This record gives sequence, C-alpha cells and structure tokens, in this order.
Amino acid sequence: MLRLPGLIDPHVHVREPGQIHKEDWDTATQAALAGGVTMILAMPNTKPPIFDASTLDLALDAARQKARCDYAQFVGAGPDNAGLLPALASRAAGLKMYLDSTFGELRLDHMTLWMPHFENYPKQHPIVLHSESRTMAAGILFATIYDRPVHIAHISLREEVLLIKAAKERGIKVTCEVCPHHLFLSKDDIPAISSGHPGRGEVRPRLGTKEDVDSLWENMDVIDCFATDHAPHSIEEKDSDNPPPGFPGLETLLPLLLTAVNLRRLTLDDVIQKSVINPRKIFRLPEQPETWVEVDESAEYEVRAADQFTRCGWTPFEGWKVKGKVRKVVLRGTTAFEDGKILAEPGYGKNIRIT
Ligand SMILES: [Zn+2]
Repeated sequence: MLRLPGLIDPHVHVREPGQIHKEDWDTATQAALAGGVTMILAMPNTKPPIFDASTLDLALDAARQKARCDYAQFVGAGPDNAGLLPALASRAAGLKMYLDSTFGELRLDHMTLWMPHFENYPKQHPIVLHSESRTMAAGILFATIYDRPVHIAHISLREEVLLIKAAKERGIKVTCEVCPHHLFLSKDDIPAISSGHPGRGEVRPRLGTKEDVDSLWENMDVIDCFATDHAPHSIEEKDSDNPPPGFPGLETLLPLLLTAVNLRRLTLDDVIQKSVINPRKIFRLPEQPETWVEVDESAEYEVRAADQFTRCGWTPFEGWKVKGKVRKVVLRGTTAFEDGKILAEPGYGKNIRIT
C-alpha cells in the first residue's frame, strides 16, 4: 500500500448554486474523496456567478452544509465588480478571469475591463486566467506590466507551454496547470469518446493534436499543477443537440497519473509536486494535518461511470484500464473514504480560507 498526501485540485466546477442536476457540493466532494482529492478550489461560473458578497455567501452557505472535503471558492471578474472584489479576497480562493470565453455576466470583452482587476485585486492573492493561445500571451503581458503573478488555467497547446517556458526563463511570474484529459487524450480520441454522441467529445479548451499532447509531456517541468477542470454535465445534456462543453475528472485524475507513473512517464514525485506542493504554494493553501491517501499500487481495474460518485453519469475514460486504486482517504484524522464507500458526512469539509 502506497501512502500519498491528500491531493489538491485547484480547478473544479461544483455547479452549485444553480445547476444541481449536474452536480452539487455534496456529489462533487464525494467524487473528490473517491479520487484521493482532499481539497478543491471551486470555480465561480455558477448560476448566478459568484461575483459579489451575496453570491459568495450563497456558494459558501451551500458548501458549509454539504461539502465532505476541504475547499475554497473563487470569485469571478466581471465588467463592473473590480471595486468590490478586494474586500472579498481574504474569503476567496482567488480571482478567476475569463479572458476569451463567453460566460454571461463574467464576460470581459475588452482589455480595458481587465485593467481594474489587475490594478485592484490584492497582490498576495492569486489571479487565475482562462486564456487560450494569443489571449494567454496578453495575460502574461498583463502579469509583467502589473508586476504580479498569474496562473494560467488548463493549458493544452504546444504554443502555450513553449511561451510559458520562455516567460519563466525570463523571470516572469507565471504558473500553469494542465488537465489529465489534455495529457491522456487528443483529437484522435474523439470518435472513441463520442461513440455516436458527438457532444461527449466537446470540452474547452478543445482536445489538442498529437503534437500538442507530446509537447505537454516533453515540457512536464514547465507545468506547475495538475488540475481536473472537473466540469460535469448530465449525460442527457451531453447527448442533446446543443451539448455543453466539459468533462468530469475528479475520480480519474489519480488513477490516470498513477498509471503513467507505472509506465514511467511520470515519477511519483511529479504527482506530489504538481498535485500537492505547487498548488499549495501558488494558492497559499494551508497544510491539512493528519491527511493522507492510501493507494493499492498494483490494483488494476476498468474505469466505469457506473462506479463514480459524480452526478453527471459519464466519463470520457469509460473502459480505460488503469493501475492504482484509492483504497482509503483520511482527512484531518477521520477516515473519509474507504473501500468504495464515502464515510465523511456532509458538512465535514472545511473552508480553508476561514482560520
Ligand atoms: Zn473550468
């Protein structure tokens, strides 16, 4: 039995408030624990989005009642909330900015809308950018101009990892995360994922080419964190005529990483650095005392949506054979998961921003 520290997932869509048919604080944190994840950072693009004091309270109230693992909640940058977010910073995981995708009230169409957020948000609190390709380059320029760190969410392209590498070599304060689906899947896998339902292959950023995937692996030292971007949508929604983009990922993260360790594509130290040590540093997260994950390294099994705790009812890794099974999770001295059963009660999870 292998013992690991509890994993931190800095990028999770919990879907509550507003879309609890997809997931809520209860099922998302059950999925986390089953995957060996003991702390999640929740994204703000819920319904309503988390972008002021009252919506932050709404999310944190639900989390306080339902969460079974530890957590913090991001606030979202909108066109006119830059003035009020600094007052919320100490209660938030960080500031999330959607620079080039349309997310209703969190839409930032012009760079003039980025400026007040970079100016006002307290420098010791992290800013996370959803920014793809050239927009990412613009985000890194903002980090340089405003002399503050930025964390780039879910990089997926060769040009992105190479630019971040060049920026880091020049001392620019940029960090980044990569999702398992951008490491283990490429465009070529879409037909297999879809199996007649094209919506199941939809994810943002899109799956890369084989060359993109190879360059992420080749530049593993540039990647600071693994993050799932767990983005559950119900299987009915994924198979509809208007499928929303997003993959679930909390329960497949560690098995996929351990399988890669087994194949010597990663080291165990990579997993610990990028899933525990670096996210803790980048997001200034506290240590979780008496917290660990026990893994049966030699257990081989098949990924099946039917065995998962996420409410969404599907996984892009259906049928994948993985090696390394989470047997037990201990969170702050209490067994939270053991042999396929969630033991932590709703509300056991702690908001790590409340000290
Ligand atoms: Zn996301």
